[in-house]
Amino acid sequence: MQSETTETDALQVPVLVVGGALVGLSMSLFLSWQGVPSLLVEKHPQPARLPRARGYNARTMELFRVLGLEEAIRAAQLPIAQNQGMVRVESLAGREIARLDEDGQADLSALSPTAACIIGQQQLEPILLDAAKRMGSDIRFNSELVSFEQDETGVSAVIRERVTGREWRVRAHYLIAADGAHSSIRDALGIQTQGPGTISYSTNVSFEADLREALRGRRIFLYYVSNPHLPDGQAGLMPDDNERRWFFGTPIHPERGERREDMTDERCIELIRIAVGMPDLEVKILPAYPWDPIKVGVWELAARYAESYRKGRVFLAGDAAHTVLPSGGLGAGTGIQDAFNLAWKLALVLAGKAGTGLLDSYESERLPVGKLVVEQTLQRQFYRTGTAESTLVDSADLIFGFRYRSAAIVAEPGANEAPLTQHPSTLCGEPGTRAPHIMLERDGLQISTIDLCGGRWTLLVGDQGTLCNEAAHRVSKRLELPLSVYTIGAEHGLKDVEGRWDAAYGVGAAGAVLVRPDGFVAWRSSTVDEQPELALEKALVRVLALC
Ligand SMILES: Cc1cc2nc3c(=O)[nH]c(=O)nc-3n(C[C@H](O)[C@H](O)[C@H](O)COP(=O)(O)OP(=O)(O)OC[C@H]3O[C@@H](n4cnc5c(N)ncnc54)[C@H](O)[C@@H]3O)c2cc1C
Repeated sequence: MQSETTETDALQVPVLVVGGALVGLSMSLFLSWQGVPSLLVEKHPQPARLPRARGYNARTMELFRVLGLEEAIRAAQLPIAQNQGMVRVESLAGREIARLDEDGQADLSALSPTAACIIGQQQLEPILLDAAKRMGSDIRFNSELVSFEQDETGVSAVIRERVTGREWRVRAHYLIAADGAHSSIRDALGIQTQGPGTISYSTNVSFEADLREALRGRRIFLYYVSNPHLPDGQAGLMPDDNERRWFFGTPIHPERGERREDMTDERCIELIRIAVGMPDLEVKILPAYPWDPIKVGVWELAARYAESYRKGRVFLAGDAAHTVLPSGGLGAGTGIQDAFNLAWKLALVLAGKAGTGLLDSYESERLPVGKLVVEQTLQRQFYRTGTAESTLVDSADLIFGFRYRSAAIVAEPGANEAPLTQHPSTLCGEPGTRAPHIMLERDGLQISTIDLCGGRWTLLVGDQGTLCNEAAHRVSKRLELPLSVYTIGAEHGLKDVEGRWDAAYGVGAAGAVLVRPDGFVAWRSSTVDEQPELALEKALVRVLALC
C-alpha cells in the first residue's frame, strides 16, 4: 500500500505515527500486528534517547504477551527487577522515616497470568522497534513532522529529513500524535490541557560508588531522601545494577536560572554524599546519556491531560494525551494501552468492518483513564515525599479495575452509576471491564482466559450455553469478523480448573460473554435467550458502529 514519492507526490499510507519512543513504537507495532501498514517518523536519530521509564505493570505486559514478546522483554529485565518497595529516609545510611508500600507490594498474581516487568527504556525500545520492523512497520528516524492539515478524506503532512534537509509529503487516512508531553500536534489542533502542568524539574545523575555499608543488606527499588541539607530538602536514589551503579536526582530550578551545566562533578558528589549520609564516600560521576557532553540530565516532572484525545482524523496517545509524574510507574503503560485500544479500532474501520463511529470510543474510554492516572500520580507524589495529604486509589484498581463507558460497550443497567475503577476481585465480567483471568485446562496444559482471548474477538460460552458454535460462526461470517468461540467445561476440552467461571464471569452455565481484542468485555448474556444468534449479532453490530 506504500510507495516512494517524488518531492511533489505524497507517500500514501493508511496511518502516520509521529513520535518513535515507547508509545509511537507500540502504536506502529500494534498496527502492523493488526495488518495495518503505517509510517512512523521520529525526529531523533535513534530510539530511547532520553530514557525515563523502567517499570511496566502487569496489564501492559499482558498486551506485549499477546504479541508473543513477553519472553524477549523479560530476558532483558534489569538486575534490580527483584528489588522490593520504596522507603523514605533521612539518608541512606541514616534513619528510615517510612516504608512506602502503596505500590509494588500488592500481590496481583491471582489476577493475571503475567506480572510487572522492570526493564530499561533503552532495552525495551529496541525490542519494540525490531518486532515492529519484522511485522512490516516503516519506521524512519531523523525524520520530523513539520506541518499537517486534514480534510474530510485524510491528513496531508510534510516531513523533513533532518540530515539532508529534504522535505517530502505524506497522505494518510489517520494521524497519531505520539509526540510527547509538549506535543506540537496537540497545540496545532488547539486542544487544551487540564491539570497543574509543569510541577518541577529534577536532575538525573548517574554514578558509581560502593554503598554496601549504607544499604545494610536492603534491596529496595527507590529511596526518597528527605534532608534539609539537600535542594528543597529532597532527593531520590535508585540502584541501577545492585552493584555499584546508581541514579541520583534532586530538584533543579531553571526558572531561577539554575542550569544543569552548573552541576559540576564536585557539586554532584557533595549532594550524593549528603543523600547517602557518608561524608567521605568515594563517588565517580558518569554521563547520564552517552551522547551528551554534559553529564547531568534534567527531567521535567509534569501532570496534565488533554481535554480531548481526537480532532477529526488526528488522535493523541501517550504523553501527548496525558503527562504524568513518575510516581507509580504508570505513564508509559497508560500510553501503550492507549495504542492497543486504538490500533484494533483503526484496523476494523480501515478494513470497512466497522463504522467510523467506533473511533469515537477511543476518547470515551481512554480519556477518563488518563485523567485518573494523572491525578493519582500526583497523589502518589504527595504520599512519597510526605509533602501533602494524599488519597490513593489501590494499584490493583488502577492496573486492572477500569470500567469503560462508550458506544463500543453494550452496557447493563446501573453501569453509568458504577465507579470508574474498583478492585478487580470485585468485578465479574461486566461489559466495559477487563475479562477476568481464570485458569482453564486444555489438553492437559493450563491456559488463562487472558491468553485464550488474547488479541482476538472471542465468545466464551457456559457449558449449558444456548449460543452454539455454529450460530456464532454464522454471525462471524455475516459480519466478516473472525470470532473465536470457546465453551467452558471439561466435556468441551476446557476444564474450569478452580470452578471459577460462574463467579468470575457472572453469566452462569447458560450464558455467553463477548470479549474484544483488547480483552475487555463488550457484551454478555446470562439468560437462555430465545434467539441467541440474533442477540449476538445485534450486540456486535452496535459495538462495531454498523447501525
Ligand atoms: C523520571 C521518570 C520516570 C518514569 N518512569 C516510568 C515508569 O517506570 N513506568 C512508566 O510506565 N512510566 C514512567 N514514566 C513516564 C514515561 O516515561 C512516559 O509516560 C513515556 O515515556 C512517554 O512516552 P511517549 O512515547 O508518549 O512520549 P516521549 O517519550 O516523549 O516520546 C515522544 C517522541 O516524539 C518525538 N517527536 C516529537 N515531536 C516530533 C516531530 N514533530 N516529529 C517527529 N518526532 C517527534 C520525540 O523526539 C520523542 O522521541 C516516567 C517519567 C519520568 C519523567
